[in-house]
Amino acid sequence: MALGRLVRSAALIPGLLGQGKKAGTSTIRCLHQTLAMAKQLQSRRLNGIDKNPWVEYTQLAAEYDVVNLGQGFPDFAPPDFAVEAFQRAISEDFMLNQYTKAFGYPPLTKILAHFFGKLLGQDMDPQSNVLVTVGAYGALFYTFQALVDEGDEVIIIEPFFDCYEPMTLMAGGRPVFVSLKPSPVQDGEVTSSSHWQLDPVELASKFTPRTKALVLNTPHNPLGKVFSRSELELVASLCQKHDTICISDEVYQWLVFDSCEHVSIASLPGMWERTVTIGSAGKTFSATGWKVGWALGPDRLLKHVRTVHLNSIYHCPTQAQVAVARSFEREMQHFGQPSSYFSSFPQTVQHNRDHMIHSLQSVGLRPIKSQGSYFMVVDISDFKKKMPDLPGAPDEAFDRRFVKWLMKNKGLAAIPVSVFASSSHQKEFDHLIRFCFVKKESTLKAMDERLLKWREETRA
Ligand code: PMP
Ligand code: GLN
Repeated sequence: MALGRLVRSAALIPGLLGQGKKAGTSTIRCLHQTLAMAKQLQSRRLNGIDKNPWVEYTQLAAEYDVVNLGQGFPDFAPPDFAVEAFQRAISEDFMLNQYTKAFGYPPLTKILAHFFGKLLGQDMDPQSNVLVTVGAYGALFYTFQALVDEGDEVIIIEPFFDCYEPMTLMAGGRPVFVSLKPSPVQDGEVTSSSHWQLDPVELASKFTPRTKALVLNTPHNPLGKVFSRSELELVASLCQKHDTICISDEVYQWLVFDSCEHVSIASLPGMWERTVTIGSAGKTFSATGWKVGWALGPDRLLKHVRTVHLNSIYHCPTQAQVAVARSFEREMQHFGQPSSYFSSFPQTVQHNRDHMIHSLQSVGLRPIKSQGSYFMVVDISDFKKKMPDLPGAPDEAFDRRFVKWLMKNKGLAAIPVSVFASSSHQKEFDHLIRFCFVKKESTLKAMDERLLKWREETRA
């Protein structure tokens, strides 16, 4: 506004624009350039979403000497069969350096249709019910772009994997949050992620005629909650009643512990037709850098997801898809047997989880036992009472200040749970931090050493 006035005033100043053609033109050009720079550069879709927790906390973890239990990735090798599959894909056939089919390397879409067809109880067609994407991130992004329209409401269960909110906003949608809340437990009882539940009445109240989609994530990042069949039935009945699409992020589906069962919501009656199920080879085969993911669903939804793919990425790296196809083929042969990675891996990870619960309790942290995923959330309310004045910006949530203190003073990196909340609900979650336990034995030992030192400092 002020610059607009400036240009108009400049035009009126005698001599300024009239001292010869050259000077006048360059002055106007200069004023117009300044005016153009005053326009917002980025599209409005990006307003308010420029901060990213992974960039911030990965950077912080690199600055300090920490045992990194923050960002979720395994720090050990993928299974031998997967590594060998990738090596063969690189060396065996030079044509695998070239494009493959746009919707996915055919043996991969075929095995995914076969494998998930059995799990979801659907006769799946590799071409119309499967799309290979660049990681689960790619599948999520396409799905939001394809199915959420300007002004549509999207129900997001809080806390939530952080990208759901910006992806809704980038599609022009309006996020509507509903939070998981912990139910009361007996004194001294180790709380479990299963104690975090949706209030059915509150959930029902979030649906309106503008509700286009609900995002579900089970096993859940960050809580480690595995939604029970009856919880999913509630979500399913509301989606059907209000004609809502379900975007179901199941990247940790193989990582469920104790006697928990992972249920895909698309396998419930009436849900296949309205669900896009999203998965990740990175999580499935402990190879997060491969960035192969997929979207599964009925053609009526997937055809629009494919349209976004065709007009943006078009094609995913061939060799990584070959490695994933062969790894699934191997798993198919071993499915249900102890030799299956899908059976042995959760057992190893459950052992790590139990190790971590025991270790963290030794310094007064209160772990919430995870039922699944890579993660466990820890209650730091006692520290919030004891150390309310931790350094940090005045409006910085306590969990963020605590994580920075933990990195700097105790050499342990975690992720504050308020990063998984909308800005107005961060206070509800600022007594929680998240640890990743998909780490090798030596990392857990290094964690133990830091915790032992912490305990000794507390006693001194
Ligand atoms: N969904 C959830 C819940 C996640 O934790 C992640 C992080 N890996 C993703 C999606 C993205 O997965 P990918 O690395 O396959 O893109
Ligand atoms: N999904 C992983 C996590 O939650 C990593 C996310 C990321 O690095 N963008 O830690």
